[in-house]
Amino acid sequence: MKGTVLYGPHDIRFEDRPEPRIEKPTDAILRLAATCVCGSDLWPYRGVQKIDKPTPMGHEYCGVVEAVGSEVKTVKPGQFVIGSFCVSDNTCPNCRNGYQSGCEQMEFMSRAQAPILRVPLADGTLVATPGTPPDDLLPSLLTVSDVLGTGWFAADAANVKPGSTAVVVGDGAVGLLGVLSAKVMGAGRIIAMSRHKQRQQLAEEFGATHIVSERGEQGVARIKELTGGLGADSVLECVGTEDSMMQAVQSARVGGSIGYVGVPHGMKLEMFPVFLHLVHLHGGPAPVRRFLPDLIQLVWDRKIQPGKVFDLTLPLDQVAEGYRAMDERRAIKTLLRP
Ligand SMILES: [Zn+2]
Ligand SMILES: [Zn+2]
Repeated sequence: MKGTVLYGPHDIRFEDRPEPRIEKPTDAILRLAATCVCGSDLWPYRGVQKIDKPTPMGHEYCGVVEAVGSEVKTVKPGQFVIGSFCVSDNTCPNCRNGYQSGCEQMEFMSRAQAPILRVPLADGTLVATPGTPPDDLLPSLLTVSDVLGTGWFAADAANVKPGSTAVVVGDGAVGLLGVLSAKVMGAGRIIAMSRHKQRQQLAEEFGATHIVSERGEQGVARIKELTGGLGADSVLECVGTEDSMMQAVQSARVGGSIGYVGVPHGMKLEMFPVFLHLVHLHGGPAPVRRFLPDLIQLVWDRKIQPGKVFDLTLPLDQVAEGYRAMDERRAIKTLLRP
């Protein structure tokens, strides 16, 4: 089997790898129908996040179960399944509280940019779809594994309510699907912050009612203008830098809520504005497993089309071009077909 390995900055190779097999009785082996490159893969790809050895890549996946270990009960060979980018048992106290991404046995998934994948803790991690999906549903089903699940968590953590006003900071795939999530949750006004024409258009397709292309203080001033000087009830922070976080805090109304899902990079948070603004802060790696059943159903019933965030589809062996296209912002998100 061949799989994707990052050797260093801008050095992605598709090379011979050992074929995954059952290692523990709680494992499952999947033959992947689709996988993709994540915005978070670009941090190590660009060398911002250091790696000390060749690192197998990929954490978003869906496909057919080929084999299961002797203790696996809830999924069986032949079923089409989707799992979160966080492996979880779904039984410990943290999982039962709805925070499977903080599971006592949590591991981050990796090695998914490959045709075959071993998934640990299969019972707690994987959810089967109602049947074998038609090909055109694959992109949308794949988003549930991370980007939709994460955008959904941002909206959930930001307390989006019917009729409320939501601001989305960040126009990557997660931000765009944060817009979609806020729309499904009934937000009355959704303000997307984006400077890119194509991304603005997609945000509008997903339900954005306003676009703000200014950033920093000017961006905040525009949000205030659009909200009668108050700021927004809910802000979804989907970038992970100090600037984007301060923009989120200052865009929220007094007593508003911020859901932050951008992986923090070099962020030091100035607490005084947070304190003065009386805002709620909630975020972290999204507990996607909590949302999997509902999000799979929304896609299955064709109520949402989150798969539109994929604007480039490549055969898996061209994965290096998939990274390049996203790095150079020629693509929002690259889908890979094994
Ligand atoms: Zn991801
Ligand atoms: Zn757990």
